[in-house]
Amino acid sequence: MKQKRAYKYRVYPTPEQQQILARTFGCCRFVYNWALRQKTDAYYNEQQRLYYKDLSERLTDLKKQEETCWLSEVSSVPLQQALRHLDKAFINFFDGRTPYPTFHKKRNQQSATYTSNAFTYKDGVMTLAKMSEPLTIRWSRPLPEESKPSSVTVTKDCANRYFMSILVDDEIEPLPQTEQTIGADLGLKSFVILSDGEVVGNPKFFHKDEKKLAKAQRRHAKKKKGSQNRDKARLKVAGIHARIADRRRDFSHKLSTRLIRENQTICVESLAVKNMVKNPKLSKAISDVGWSEFVSQLEYKAAWYGRNLVKIDRWYPSSKRCFDCGHILDSLPLDVRMWTCPECGVIHDRDINAAQNIHAVGLTVFEACGESVRPGAVKTKPGKTQRSRKPSK
Ligand SMILES: [Zn+2]
Repeated sequence: MKQKRAYKYRVYPTPEQQQILARTFGCCRFVYNWALRQKTDAYYNEQQRLYYKDLSERLTDLKKQEETCWLSEVSSVPLQQALRHLDKAFINFFDGRTPYPTFHKKRNQQSATYTSNAFTYKDGVMTLAKMSEPLTIRWSRPLPEESKPSSVTVTKDCANRYFMSILVDDEIEPLPQTEQTIGADLGLKSFVILSDGEVVGNPKFFHKDEKKLAKAQRRHAKKKKGSQNRDKARLKVAGIHARIADRRRDFSHKLSTRLIRENQTICVESLAVKNMVKNPKLSKAISDVGWSEFVSQLEYKAAWYGRNLVKIDRWYPSSKRCFDCGHILDSLPLDVRMWTCPECGVIHDRDINAAQNIHAVGLTVFEACGESVRPGAVKTKPGKTQRSRKPSK
């Protein structure tokens, strides 16, 4: 299954690179607007349609003229791509999807697209045409291994932040089938408890970040309002927040990828988070762990790689049910970590018992209903999309 996927990252250009980008953005905008004018005029004055090829030829002439020769100072590739973008805008217009293309404005988001002949990329080092140094990119998540970027688009938003969207041609092969299955439950003290007893995500891993954040926040609060130092402290807090988010996302991606690789069917509890957040003691732990993000990662990765994700309804008493004999307790307070079944006498670790129940009931549901389980409950093989489940009328 071949897919084009875009990966977006924050980039930090040097002052020199910012200048090159500013010039490139300006030229792209100029070319786009100029081409739009050409097309519109040709259509209204001569009932003629100009295509990419015509405009590309005219652009070459334009660069030779004295008053517009500055267009040659930037890489020619983003300018060609601006013409392509306009082409696409017109296709969308003629297909009735969008209104007539409008001029690009300087105060809006700026962008420039580089195709593979205008950048070099190797092992995380990205250098754009006309730039002597590679760009500093914050790799908030890894590009898929051995992927070849087909184009990159650099944007600058209204808050003067720079981003890079890397388009990758990904060959996604479904993984070979395996017999392994697993259940995963949201742990209270750690991120995930697996039904085989593994505890993933040491709380100390995030604890360090939290301490740093708290310290930075205290510093920020102490600075005089309106002072430069306060501004600096605020930036520092924002920076730590961003870094924490990156680290968690990275952690979540690694774990979801591993579970998908190792198991054919993965059973999880659909969100019980809403109820748990009401408990103030737990709210921090819950917001920390990003369970819903984790589950959605499992969901799309399962679809890519031909795995099954079974989501168990939250009303299922996964914690209170004894995995060994099926006895269901009347209640199980949140602070009880270990309990002994009054029926069969087995001693349970609260979380592992829950993960085991989720695993067992998930497999039962999956085997009983197969792929006919209601949409959303089970994601099946790639190609079996939501659309194909709709009645064909
Ligand atoms: Zn029991």
